[in-house]
Amino acid sequence: MELYNGLINNLIEELASLPGIGVKSAQRLAFHIIGLPQSRVDHIANTMMKARAGVRYCSECCNLSDADTCPICSNGRRDHSTIMVVESPRDLAAYEKTGRYEGVYHVLHGAISPMLGIGPGDIRLKELMTRLEGDIQEVIIATNSSLEGETTAMYISKLVKPIGIKVTRIASGVPVGGDLENIDEVTLLRALEGRTEI
Ligand code: ZN
Repeated sequence: MELYNGLINNLIEELASLPGIGVKSAQRLAFHIIGLPQSRVDHIANTMMKARAGVRYCSECCNLSDADTCPICSNGRRDHSTIMVVESPRDLAAYEKTGRYEGVYHVLHGAISPMLGIGPGDIRLKELMTRLEGDIQEVIIATNSSLEGETTAMYISKLVKPIGIKVTRIASGVPVGGDLENIDEVTLLRALEGRTEI
């Protein structure tokens, strides 16, 4: 038996399809949205559409940005010769929250996973290699400590080392399989400071 009519059901289904939102949360959100003034809902929907249409990848680090280069890459006070390679914009955000990293980033948007059929060509590796033609002192690999993250780290290391650029890996204080965004700042900083050359 359908509990609600089509419009409400559609809304609940769409919300439940978002990551981290189960059916119960989707229902709660749907009822909340329906209870909001029309103008508020228009504003939320508009913000989503504008963000989707206007946000692109930074031409340098591939982070999400609404300009050609993101605020980090266009900041002249950052150390542009140190690149920290992360899997996702969320990982970048986690390191930025520590406020202690002064270099720049490179966002891969994924990790190599032979099991899932994700190869080197499916993540933003080519863009990283292009950046390494510039004056780069160190590449810090901060991919997750999952099997995919380690595979990706090894792959990048093999590509970068022959160029003569120092390659380091963050220390393994990061729990296995742990998403960097769920790790507290002290642990992240310790992992960064304890990085070793690979
Ligand atoms: Zn950038």
